[in-house]
Amino acid sequence: MHRHKVVVFGAGGVGKSALITRFVKGNFLSNYDPTIEEVYECTSQIDGTTFSLEILDTAGADQFCAPQERYIKSAHGFILVFSLTQETSLREIEDLRQRIYHLRGDNRPIPLVVVGTKLDLTTEREVPQELIRRYAVRWGVPFYETSAKRNWNVRPSFEDLVRQMRTR
Ligand code: GDP
Ligand code: MG
Repeated sequence: MHRHKVVVFGAGGVGKSALITRFVKGNFLSNYDPTIEEVYECTSQIDGTTFSLEILDTAGADQFCAPQERYIKSAHGFILVFSLTQETSLREIEDLRQRIYHLRGDNRPIPLVVVGTKLDLTTEREVPQELIRRYAVRWGVPFYETSAKRNWNVRPSFEDLVRQMRTR
């Protein structure tokens, strides 16, 4: 069975834990605990093949600390999370992405998806689709607009990452 290590990065409060919880446990995490840093394991099927994921949910305001380097070096795939309700959280992804490519330093493609969260909060939306399209083209990575609350597009974003990791 394939076993993949996935690291989930993004600014505090964007919805990393809620996204992972929705995918792994199937429910919505409504309370916010900024300190939780945990590994989730799950086994599922995609395209008729069983795979297992070890998903690291990161926490902490300092995105550029020593443990982060270790995670980046040992991961097979990355989910970079920002909130559609907070444009600054998209800028933080940009820094993270550069750091990942810098640390990996090889020419092989790095399995990665970018996930915008809180799509259900339509009146609070700050990041227009047009901006997302521009980022997606510039970076050459898939973007997903999701809602962990409504369970919109959560599974497709994980499946995309699994398919990328599989072809490695
Ligand atoms: P993290 O710090 O990135 O792990 O953020 P959390 O997953 O803890 O989420 C922060 C807050 O945003 C929590 O109160 C969540 O319930 C809320 N949240 C996360 N995802 C969504 C979503 O898709 N829709 C809505 N409405 N709230 C969300
Ligand atoms: Mg969290």
